[in-house]
Amino acid sequence: MTIGRFALRRRDYDFPPFRPPSEAESLLLRVTRGCPWNRCTFCSMYKTIKFEIREPEEVLSDIQLAKDLYGDRVRTVFIGDSNSLVVKADTLVQILNALYASFPHVERVTSYARAKTLAKKPIEDLERVFRAGLTRLHVGLETGDPDLLKEIEKGATPEEMVEAGRRAKQVGFEYSLYVLLGIGGEENWERHARGTAEVLNQIDPHFIRVRTYVPQPGSPLYDATEEGRFHPASPETILKETKLLLEELDVTSQFLSDHISNLLPLDGKLPEEKGRMVQMIEDALKGLEEDDSLREEMEIRRHLTNL
Ligand code: SF4
Repeated sequence: MTIGRFALRRRDYDFPPFRPPSEAESLLLRVTRGCPWNRCTFCSMYKTIKFEIREPEEVLSDIQLAKDLYGDRVRTVFIGDSNSLVVKADTLVQILNALYASFPHVERVTSYARAKTLAKKPIEDLERVFRAGLTRLHVGLETGDPDLLKEIEKGATPEEMVEAGRRAKQVGFEYSLYVLLGIGGEENWERHARGTAEVLNQIDPHFIRVRTYVPQPGSPLYDATEEGRFHPASPETILKETKLLLEELDVTSQFLSDHISNLLPLDGKLPEEKGRMVQMIEDALKGLEEDDSLREEMEIRRHLTNL
């Protein structure tokens, strides 16, 4: 069921500009604007937006608008923008209470969050927000390699990434981690894959979602690419990296490449479907050796999208 966006737009409803692919059917609710960190070198998502926390009254007014139009039809809600957990627990609980009171059939409320915030926020606050009904968190890991994390200015160490995941799972959140294939460029794919697997193995998140890095105009890494200081990974390298990542994983997560930037539609439960997914990658690598047009097709696909 799709929530109609047009009617809400006409009534000045404030939409988050981005959402995870898995939230395509969700009501989108904006609780903050922009990103309070906004320094990751690969990201241009919120670079032009000044970070602010919306007044609770404004958010409640948006909930009322959506209720009037779609009250009975809303099943899932996504809260934006990039890190809703920076909002005080009291305010989030108030908003979540209003959501559940307004949409009687809501089954899932999700949000983006930063690992650093999760690692620091008092556990009692996280528990209150979870009990009020925020059920799933989407968090950008990008890589688990310590040096790459520094280079991309993610603002969190591998240890903090692990601590964030441990706390989220302890509280009860469904935990969805994003990995950015190709973020090590042509040269650093192996340490990117190994470091990422190491962090993921310690967290064992519910979902591992991979996206492929595509240089985004307006981001420092795009400029580095243009100036020849960063060498984007080739399709072969990205496939080898994904294969190594899968082979190194020792988790019970759902592995998904549910993003248009990705070279292959991998989707499977680990560890049961690891062999099948690795085989898909090996077949694609063989295909690349034999057919140049496949490389072209993969490159085009990769550039069809934004983050
Ligand atoms: S990747 Fe996430 S945390 Fe980093 S700047 Fe972009 S929105 Fe902010």
